[in-house]
Amino acid sequence: MSTEEDVVDVVVVGGGGAGLAAAVSAAEQGASVLLFESQKELGGSTQLSAGLFTAAGTSVQRGLGVEDSAEKFFQHYMDLNQWLLEPGLVKAFCDNAGPTLEWLIELGVEVPAVVSASAHEPGLCRAGVEDVWRGHVPKDQGYGLVQTLDAARKRHGVEAVLNSRVQRLLVEAGQVRGVVVDDIEVRAHAVVVASGGFAQNPALLEQLYPTVLEAGDDLFVVAAEGSQGDHLAFGEQVDAAVVGHDWGLLMPTVYFQRLHHWQSGFPPRSRVHVNPQGRRFMDEDASYAVSGGLIDLQGGPCHVVFDEKARLGLPAGYAHWDAEHVLAEAEAGRTLRADTLEELAGLMGVPADALVATVERWNTQLPQGEDPDFLRHVSLAAKGSSEPPAPIADGPFYAARILPAELVCTHAGLQIDGSAAVVDRVGDTVPGLFAAGEAGAGILGARYVGGGNAVANALTMGRIAGLGAARAAATRTTPTV
Ligand SMILES: Cc1cc2nc3c(=O)[nH]c(=O)nc-3n(C[C@H](O)[C@H](O)[C@H](O)COP(=O)(O)OP(=O)(O)OC[C@H]3O[C@@H](n4cnc5c(N)ncnc54)[C@H](O)[C@@H]3O)c2cc1C
Repeated sequence: MSTEEDVVDVVVVGGGGAGLAAAVSAAEQGASVLLFESQKELGGSTQLSAGLFTAAGTSVQRGLGVEDSAEKFFQHYMDLNQWLLEPGLVKAFCDNAGPTLEWLIELGVEVPAVVSASAHEPGLCRAGVEDVWRGHVPKDQGYGLVQTLDAARKRHGVEAVLNSRVQRLLVEAGQVRGVVVDDIEVRAHAVVVASGGFAQNPALLEQLYPTVLEAGDDLFVVAAEGSQGDHLAFGEQVDAAVVGHDWGLLMPTVYFQRLHHWQSGFPPRSRVHVNPQGRRFMDEDASYAVSGGLIDLQGGPCHVVFDEKARLGLPAGYAHWDAEHVLAEAEAGRTLRADTLEELAGLMGVPADALVATVERWNTQLPQGEDPDFLRHVSLAAKGSSEPPAPIADGPFYAARILPAELVCTHAGLQIDGSAAVVDRVGDTVPGLFAAGEAGAGILGARYVGGGNAVANALTMGRIAGLGAARAAATRTTPTV
C-alpha cells in the first residue's frame, strides 16, 4: 500500500543519453524524477560515442552559411530508408533534432560553427551521404554530452541510483505504475524506458538481429556493457509492438580489427576495395550510411587491396592498422600476400586479369587527382584530405578481407509514436509508458543516415519522452472534480 508521497512523477530506466535527456527535460517541467542505472557509472554507449549529432536548420549550420531545414532532413531520411519507416514519427524526430541541439548548446554543450573533417574535430562535418552537411561534433564527444546532461540533472536535484538494474515494470490494469528494482517496488506516474539496445546479448541478437551472425568469429561488439535488451522484456509485459527487426549499425571493418576504428586505426589511403569478380565496387571512403550495404550486396568475400609502400606508411600508435601488425597477419597467412597482383588474385580466388585491370585503372585515376567512377575524391575532400594517394605499384601486394562486423548499436525496440509514447500490438499507446534511444524504436532504420543518427535519436526522443512523461504524470496527479 503506498501513499501519494511515495509516488515519484517519472522513473527513468537507464542513464545513457536518452535517459539523461529524459530526466532533465522531465525535471524542467517540474516533475519529480528518479533515474536508475544498471552499471556503476552513467553514460552507456552514449559516453563511448563520438557524440556526433545529426540535425538540420541549426545555429551551427547557419553560422557556416549552410541553408537547411527539418523538411529537407525528413525527405533525405525517408528516401534513404526507402520510406520503410513511419513518416509521422520520423517527422517528429527531424523537426525536433535541431531544437534539441540548441537545447544542448544552452545547457553547455559546445559545437563551434567551423568545418570539421572528422568525428573527432568539433564543428560541422559530413555525416553520411546527405546533400548538406548535418553532422554536429561536440567538444569532448559523447563524454562531453553526458557530462553536460549530468550536470543539468544535478542542478535539477534528480537522483541517479547506480548499480541498480530495473527488473520489470509495475503494471496494474494495463497502466504502468512504476518499476521493480532490487526487488523493491518503486511507484511512479510515468516510466521512461531508456535502457539502450541489446548488442551485448547474444540470444537477443540471434532473435532480433540475425544478420550479425553472418560475421561469424569476426563479429565484435563496441556497444556498452549495459546493452542487454531489457526493454524487450519490459515491452512483453504490456504487449508492446516491437519494430526494427534485423536492423542496426554493423560497420565494415577488416577482419583483424577488434576495436572501434579510433583505436584500431585506419587502412591506408592508397587502397582499393575489390569484390569476388576482382572489380572495384565502391568509394572506399563512403560513409557507413551506405558502405555496409554495398559490401553485403557483392555476393561473396570482398578484400582491401594495398601494397608494401602503403603498409610501411601506416602511422604508428594504432592497435591493428599498424605496419607490424599487418605484417604479422600476413606471416600468419590470414592477410593474403603475394609478389605480383596475378598471384594475389589466385590467393583471393578472383580473376587475375580483372584484378590487374582494376588496379591499373585506379592508378590512372585517383592518384592523378580524380575518381570518375566512384567519386572518392569528394569523400576525401570532405575529410580534409586533398593530397592524391600514391599508386598501388610496389610489391608485395596485400589483400585483407573486409566485411560488416563491428556492432555499434541495435535498432529493434519498443514501437513509439511522435511523443515517444510506447505503442502496443494493436496500435494503442500504453498509459504511463514512454521509450527513447535504442530502446524506443521506429526512427533508426535499415539505413543509418550517417554519423550522428543514433545520438540524435537518443537525445531528441529522450527529451521528448521526458516531456511526455512529465505531462502524463501531471494529468495523473491532477484531481478530477
Ligand atoms: C564506440 C561507439 C561510438 C558511437 N559513435 C556514435 C556517434 O558518434 N554518433 C551517433 O549518433 N551514434 C554513435 N554511436 C551509437 C550511439 O552512441 C548509441 O546508439 C546511443 O548513444 C544510445 O543511447 P541510449 O541512451 O539509447 O543508450 P545508452 O547510451 O547505451 O544508455 C542506456 C543505459 O541504460 C542502462 N541500462 C540498461 N538496462 C538497464 C536496466 N534494466 N536498468 C537500469 N539501467 C539499464 C545501460 O547500462 C546504459 O547506461 C556510437 C556507439 C558506440 C558504442
